[in-house]
Amino acid sequence: MVTTRLLILGSGPAGYTAAIYAARADLAPIVLSGPEPGGQLMWTTEVENYPGFPRGILGPDLMTAMKEQAERFGASVVPQSATRVDVHHHPWRVWTDHEEYQAECLVVATGASAKWLNFPNEQRLRGKGVSACATCDGFFFRGQDVVVIGGGDSAMEEALFLTKFANQVTVLVRADKLRASKIMAHRAEANTKISWRFNTEVVDVLGQELVTGVRVKDTLTGATTDMAAHGMFLAIGHQPNTSLFRGQLQLDDRGYLTITNQVFSSQPGVFIAGDVADFRYRQAVTAAGWGCMAAIEAERYLSAGRE
Ligand code: NDP
Repeated sequence: MVTTRLLILGSGPAGYTAAIYAARADLAPIVLSGPEPGGQLMWTTEVENYPGFPRGILGPDLMTAMKEQAERFGASVVPQSATRVDVHHHPWRVWTDHEEYQAECLVVATGASAKWLNFPNEQRLRGKGVSACATCDGFFFRGQDVVVIGGGDSAMEEALFLTKFANQVTVLVRADKLRASKIMAHRAEANTKISWRFNTEVVDVLGQELVTGVRVKDTLTGATTDMAAHGMFLAIGHQPNTSLFRGQLQLDDRGYLTITNQVFSSQPGVFIAGDVADFRYRQAVTAAGWGCMAAIEAERYLSAGRE
């Protein structure tokens, strides 16, 4: 068993920023980096809105830098995922497949993951033309026609990235307008490789071994048609990674961790940071800010306990 004063679950901007602050407060935090070390930014290309990088920075480079910064001050980053937690009895206990951890204080920064439509064919064809990550899989669609589902910033980003490889990218939007920010929407609209279908819902994915098309429904008329495509990229938002905490901490009806105030969870000594509780902003910089606040509160909690 490993004992520690502060255990941080998650290694996105929230987890690493918490680790930087906690390490600088001499807490020697342990970070369990989780199933996707570095978090969602590992799947993006250029990050243009993180302050301090006027020419942008690649998501994976930003996360590598945050990890190095945390380690420089004494944080230990362990490539393990929590499989079970107990925050009913102090000290808190967290299990991974390899180890049991006992911590006086916990920062939960487990983030969020891409949403899927969850049709049987979609799941069957994952990795065979169905993807939720253009950065990871776009390369395989050189010269082919692909569709992107969604009308938010993620969809714009995925579509733009895919134009580097694909012949034609069609964005399928279920609403009659985009939800994306103006700047991202304008950029995508200006790209001649991108075409648009609004009021369009994907109801099935077609193909035996590989994706050959999608079945779409016109939401105004109800008419269903098939569209040929070699790839289907999902960009329909994210869901919080909170299954570990069911029955342990308060969740809201969307499954996000409930914060009682700033970074406080329903349990004193368990602090929350980043997308795991954030359905509103979901930005790297806001997650980093929450990580900082969580570490400061963790330090206060631990200092109070020592007195
Ligand atoms: P959003 O929630 O903003 O958008 C999700 C999109 O998917 C909407 O168009 C929504 O449609 C659609 N959608 C949701 N469920 C379904 C479904 N079942 N079938 C079809 N369509 C569906 O999520 P994003 O991931 O795009 O963005 C999340 C946050 O991250 C935002 O704050 C965004 O600004 C930010 N972000 C910023 C980036 C940047 O600045 N570089 C890049 C990526 C994200 P509807 O509108 O009808 O609900």
